[in-house]
Amino acid sequence: MEKIIVVGGGPAGLMAAVKAAENGSEVLLLEKMNRVGKKMLITGKGRCNITNTAQIPELIKNITGNGAFLNSTIRAFDNEDVIAFFNGLGLSTKIERGGRIFPESDKAADVVGSMLRALHRLGVKIEVNQVIDHILVKNSTVCGVKTKTGKIYEGDAVILATGGASYPGTGSTGDGYAMAKNLGHSVVPIKPSLVPLETKESWIKSVQGLSLKNVKVTALADGEKIGEDFGEMLFTHFGVSGPIILSLSRVVTEQLQQGKKVELSINLKPALTPEVLDKRIQRDFEKFIRKQIKNSLHELLPAKLIDVMIGLASLEPDKEIHQVTKEERLRLVNAIEHLTLTVTKTRPIAEAIVTAGGIEVKEINPKTMESKLVKHLYFAGEVIDIDGYTGGFNLQAAFSTGAAAGQYAAWSD
Ligand SMILES: Cc1cc2nc3c(=O)[nH]c(=O)nc-3n(C[C@H](O)[C@H](O)[C@H](O)COP(=O)(O)OP(=O)(O)OC[C@H]3O[C@@H](n4cnc5c(N)ncnc54)[C@H](O)[C@@H]3O)c2cc1C
Repeated sequence: MEKIIVVGGGPAGLMAAVKAAENGSEVLLLEKMNRVGKKMLITGKGRCNITNTAQIPELIKNITGNGAFLNSTIRAFDNEDVIAFFNGLGLSTKIERGGRIFPESDKAADVVGSMLRALHRLGVKIEVNQVIDHILVKNSTVCGVKTKTGKIYEGDAVILATGGASYPGTGSTGDGYAMAKNLGHSVVPIKPSLVPLETKESWIKSVQGLSLKNVKVTALADGEKIGEDFGEMLFTHFGVSGPIILSLSRVVTEQLQQGKKVELSINLKPALTPEVLDKRIQRDFEKFIRKQIKNSLHELLPAKLIDVMIGLASLEPDKEIHQVTKEERLRLVNAIEHLTLTVTKTRPIAEAIVTAGGIEVKEINPKTMESKLVKHLYFAGEVIDIDGYTGGFNLQAAFSTGAAAGQYAAWSD
């Protein structure tokens, strides 16, 4: 293919541009914002978790939204290829907890910078501040794109990599959905994935900012268990966030949409059985026998949670420990193991880490990423109906689909 236009300069578009240029095409990358890779710069808290060391089946399993569709693109450009790609650009990487891969420098800007240098070396032209709003098609074959201001760019193939609709301040405002729809593509309704959750309980405000490590959260819909995760979570002014909440948010969103009552049951001491926890509390109580309850739980619970737990266990905060009954103590054990929150709704899609939904995968060739409806139109990244868990899986999906789209667009005639 002679001239390829890439729409969108996120990880998927940047990778597509590199691969198309490496395979001999003239490439023009058009980006809406004043610079490329804005979202990438904030990934992994500014450190960019580029992929994960998991084996391929595990990688695919962690892409909960249509992972199977990515089987062939991930196999063709897997996590080892991503690491080798960046190392080849002079970017050293390191492995962290859970197999997460980061740049050694801990700077997302270095990841974007390495890709930009590669594009420069390959002669890819980048134009920023270009908002594309139409893909031009003649005889069911792509022939260019048109900007919002009416400027036309001609090309033999177009790779649409406009991302999802989360964090719109980074440029990802869901523009690609309308463009694909205009060409007859179906778009699976979008919804937030990896999103914080709002909760009903008013005590939440008193613990905002508190982060809990090594807790177990069980999500329940109408009393039935729908998911469980272990790790770190955070209380906010509206409810809960943090890694395990984000991971559970996908199933929670589905159940909320079905009108079910969703609750989160937090076990603050998941390593202890109720009996062992009770013994532990008894030991603390012996130590603080002359103190009031409110002054005897600081070795067991974070300070911010003490009043809340006393309230939830219906205990009197001023009661002295030697007056606490066994029944009262067991109420405390129960409250610590089942700290329950009622989810009212998710935060808006703008605050989601990833957008679920997007261009229907059945209408895309899973090997080449080419549209099955329009010749020489390719898709890459989050604009497609794919979404994964945290841990580097979303960027892997963006890189794998970007690599396939770039390469096959360059190879096609
Ligand atoms: C806070 C946060 C942290 C994250 N951390 C991680 C992480 O550490 N690891 C991980 O794997 N994933 C992470 N993700 C998810 C990951 O960033 C995305 O899945 C990924 O960026 C998607 O890549 P993309 O190229 O498809 O889309 P995007 O990165 O959204 O890029 C799309 C690009 O297209 C441009 N564009 C949009 N519309 C138009 C238009 N009409 N014309 C021209 N250009 C347009 C946009 O400006 C943007 O530059 C994180 C996401 C967020 C929000």
